[in-house]
Order: sequence, then structure tokens, then C-alpha cells
Amino acid sequence: MNVVVLLGAPGAGKGTQAPLLATRLGIPIVATGDLFRAAVRDGTAMGQDARRYMDAGQLVPDEITVRLLLDRLGRPDAAAGVILDGFPRTGVQAAALDRELAGRDARVGAAILVDVPIDELVRRMSGRWVCRAAGHPHHETFSPPQVVGVCDLDGSELYQRADDRPATIRARMDQQLGALAEVIDHYRSSGVLRTVDGLQGIGGVAEAIGTTLDDAGIRPADALKEPSAG
Ligand code: ADP
Ligand code: ADP
Repeated sequence: MNVVVLLGAPGAGKGTQAPLLATRLGIPIVATGDLFRAAVRDGTAMGQDARRYMDAGQLVPDEITVRLLLDRLGRPDAAAGVILDGFPRTGVQAAALDRELAGRDARVGAAILVDVPIDELVRRMSGRWVCRAAGHPHHETFSPPQVVGVCDLDGSELYQRADDRPATIRARMDQQLGALAEVIDHYRSSGVLRTVDGLQGIGGVAEAIGTTLDDAGIRPADALKEPSAG
């Protein structure tokens, strides 16, 4: 089971890199932010609960978030592995993930930190447009869609997230960067932390992540299933 964790501050480029990685490794993306937005859209009780925190730029409590993630990991398509985007975001979440994986004789293979300075994060989030169907990120200046208002990947409509307003962006930075540091320490201690320079263009970051995965010996799920030749 390939479990790759994408780490980075809000706006670092996790959601942009995740589909490239999913294609490369042949495993699905599990993005807790997308799961929460879907729950809000569906009007579930959990979604209504989560929404209060999201609108304020705060982390949703660990108990709710861990339950959401474990439910998703229990689905059959996650059996060969997952790319985690936006989870874990606290030390408690990281420990819960370790426990769950240990129960399946698995572990996080690599935690890739996409490292971007704060000023650039704000620039990225304030120009972000994401699609209705899957949350694919675009940027009005850095990564404009081919057709204005339309997702390059799936053709659905693009919109600006409510929590990408300047006041909420600042709140998210204030509230989430401390917790991110905890998660970085967690993976540094377990020896799987890898840092890539996120200040490059999208293609440059993708290449750096590819090299990092090769170094870590993480290969596509299909390749793992092949019987070894000779
Ligand atoms: P971004 O792409 O800007 O990093 P996400 O889409 O990942 O944002 O998450 C949006 C919001 O959903 C977060 O600001 C937070 O309120 C909530 N959220 C997502 N993942 C988690 C998590 N692992 N723990 C707590 N809250 C989360
Ligand atoms: P995250 O999921 O980490 O919050 P996103 O992938 O949504 O971040 O990226 C935030 C914004 O920055 C989006 O508008 C995206 O198009 C843009 N972006 C992502 N990667 C880069 C990059 N390497 N250079 C410039 N802009 C980028």
C-alpha cells in the first residue's frame, strides 16, 4: 500500500500537485478539504458543523476530521494506497493515521513538504479559482484556465472559495501554521519527511516531487502488483 502525504501551508500547491501524483502512482487522492466541502454542499449535519470552522479559517476538530478520513480510507479504491492532501494537519491526526495504517501492516511511505514563503502563499490563494466538480485549482495569473471560468481538467465551472478572501486567508495562516509545524516534526522524527522547493513553477515542483518519490522507492501501484521478472 502506497501512502504519500502532501504537506504544505494553505496555498502551497498541494491540490495542484495531487492530480499529477495520482496519475503517476495510479492511486486516488483523498483531500479532506474537498470531503468537507462536499459535506457542506450536501447539507449533512457533519457538513454544517464543519462549515463554522472552515468559514472562520480554523481547523475542524480532530475528532470529526479523523472519523471522516478513516471512513474514506475504508473504501475499496483506497486499498492500493492514497495520496493524502490536507491530512494530517495536527499531531493528533498524524498519530491516528499511523495507528490505522499499522493495523493494515502499512505506514506512510513519504511525507512531502511543499515549502513556500508566506508572501507567496497569500498571492497564490488570493488569485485561486477552483472547479465545482473536483476542486481542481487554477490561478488567474500563475495558472489561468484555457477558457475563462472553465476547468482545464473536467470542464466544470470555476469559482472563488469563500475562505480565500483576504481576511480569512490571514486567519488560516495564523491558526494553521503552528499545527503544520507539529506535523512536520512528526514525520521528521519518523524519517519520512522530504522537502521540495515550492517556489518553482508547477512543472518544476512536479519534477522535484517525482525525483523525491524515486529516491524513496515509491513506484506506481500497478508495478507493485507485477510478479518480479527472472
Ligand atoms: P487549502 O487548500 O487552502 O489548504 P483545504 O481545502 O485543504 O484548504 O481545507 C479547507 C478547510 O477545511 C481548512 O481551512 C479547514 O477548515 C478544513 N480542513 C481541511 N482539512 C482539515 C484537516 N485535516 N483538519 C482540520 N481541518 C481541515
Ligand atoms: P493548496 O492545495 O496547497 O492550498 P493549491 O494547489 O490550491 O494549494 O494552489 C494555490 C494557488 O496557487 C492556486 O491558484 C494554484 O493555481 C496556484 N499554484 C499552485 N502551484 C503553483 C506554482 N508552483 N506556482 C504558481 N502558482 C501555483
